[in-house]
Amino acid sequence: MLPAGSTIGILGGGQLGRMMAMSALQLGYKVIGFAPEGDNVAAEACGDFVTADWDDTAALSDFAARCDVVTWEFENVPLGTVAALPQTLLPCPARALEVAQDRLNEKAFAADHGGTPAPYARVDSAADFEAALTRIGTPGILKTARDGYDGKGQWRVRSSLEASGVHFPGVTCIYEGFVTYETEFSVILVRSISGDVRFWDSTANLHDGGMLTQSLLPAGDRVEAQVGEARALAAKIADALGYVGVLTLEFFATRDGPVFNEMAPRVHNSGHWTIEGAATSQFENHIRAICGLPLGGTATRFESIDMRNIVGDDALNAHAILAEPGEPHLHLYGKREAREGRKMGHVTRVGHALR
Ligand code: AMP
Repeated sequence: MLPAGSTIGILGGGQLGRMMAMSALQLGYKVIGFAPEGDNVAAEACGDFVTADWDDTAALSDFAARCDVVTWEFENVPLGTVAALPQTLLPCPARALEVAQDRLNEKAFAADHGGTPAPYARVDSAADFEAALTRIGTPGILKTARDGYDGKGQWRVRSSLEASGVHFPGVTCIYEGFVTYETEFSVILVRSISGDVRFWDSTANLHDGGMLTQSLLPAGDRVEAQVGEARALAAKIADALGYVGVLTLEFFATRDGPVFNEMAPRVHNSGHWTIEGAATSQFENHIRAICGLPLGGTATRFESIDMRNIVGDDALNAHAILAEPGEPHLHLYGKREAREGRKMGHVTRVGHALR
């Protein structure tokens, strides 16, 4: 168990790091963040924040010397950055990042562990794209294998005719068949250093243009019927990776069972409701796990949960939400610029308390 007063290093400077740091402070830890120049909103919640490039080895070794444990809030931290740190500082193996950073890797990894991804093909050229369209058909989605998020780096192909307007972007991609589903849901688990695994309830997740907009509980019969199978896959993957901390897997609930979409080796937007809605939040349990503390309960505390993201300009008047009935819980991330499609905050509404 890491004693209070120890220092947690967080790689990445976004809202996930900010909320993680707030939980770390609550448990008596100090936090140092590390990220390249940018709108690093985690910095306000960290005692110190190192602004340096991911390959700045001098800055990294100085950062490492000041940390007792290091975690990440961003799955695209370069593997070289993590490899440059003393591995004893990392409770969670970097292999988890390696798998999740590449959509081809993560789909193959999930399939190897018994999961069912959408039909997919690797695309390294325009000819591969043609071949993938022939083999898998339309509708489908072409996605960059790496670095995509919130629907960026994705091109939907509704019909063969439309495919002619979608061009191979010059980097390795994956072409996926479009999955017909009833609901999207995520499995969020926390795994301790000793291998204890706990799950939060799975929300139904709504997306717009590839970006999460809302997470809801109850998630509906279809999700509830499939969550057991999805959890089994998530636990198998966590065990195989020797994972420590919070891990998220996203699924489509289809007529034929859960289809694996992707994994995030970190806390997740669809788990923000756990701050008010669960016995212990994803952020606190992540900190507990990486520090070797006893994990907290993950039970849902309310009959219903409704978490909505506040995106772009909607943040400008967000404090007005506080006047609405039902005691909404507002979280703003302190981002400087309310750009279109940018997650600026979220609001969680809860129903009656469960006894
Ligand atoms: P991703 O970045 O892979 O999570 O994709 C973002 C969102 O796009 C997903 O949450 C879905 O709403 C949608 N999407 C992505 N891939 C597929 C697919 N193969 N079939 C249907 N919808 C998809």
